[in-house]
Amino acid sequence: MMAYFIIMKQTLYHFTIFQFLILIPLIFTSCSYQQGRVLTAPEIIYPVEWGGMDSVFSFEPQKIEAITIHHSGVVFDDSKDVGKYLINLQNWSRKEKKWVDIPYHYIIDRAGRIYQCRDPRMAGDTNTEYDPKGHLLISVLGNYQEQVPTEQMLKSLELLVLVKAAEYKVDFEKIYTHQDLVVTECPGRNIVVWLKKQSWYKK
Ligand SMILES: [Zn+2]
Repeated sequence: MMAYFIIMKQTLYHFTIFQFLILIPLIFTSCSYQQGRVLTAPEIIYPVEWGGMDSVFSFEPQKIEAITIHHSGVVFDDSKDVGKYLINLQNWSRKEKKWVDIPYHYIIDRAGRIYQCRDPRMAGDTNTEYDPKGHLLISVLGNYQEQVPTEQMLKSLELLVLVKAAEYKVDFEKIYTHQDLVVTECPGRNIVVWLKKQSWYKK
């Protein structure tokens, strides 16, 4: 039988505190990854804070073994309200696509704010032909074939990738872009150019 339950908000708060506690030793682990560089856990904006609904569980939890970097693929106008965008994206994902939630676990906006979307314990979704099971899906808001990424956004992307790689013990060799796995423009040439300069990106 499939487990089918909703995480209550209270559980989410406990999870946040729990995450914070496990991140303390992970920060030190991350230091060895980055040769003395100190990483502090980034601030995460949870669905209860951005106005979304918590993930609805409909299948077994996944074990994260890889990280995949995406872009949302649509040019994002900086004057637009990100909260409203996420609420619309969640409704579209559930009603139109019949997915359990937004396909990505985290979305980073152009101001560098990090939003948790789908609960990372649930595998993501994709419109392309790779199996996202076992991947943590991180997406940046915008189209980076066309747009230039902001410094704040790239800083948050790097921090989130490194902290999550340490948390889930993901080898740097298993940090992918979407286009490392399947033919697609995602996450856009302007993100790929930047990634190739990062010591932790091994493609
Ligand atoms: Zn993608």
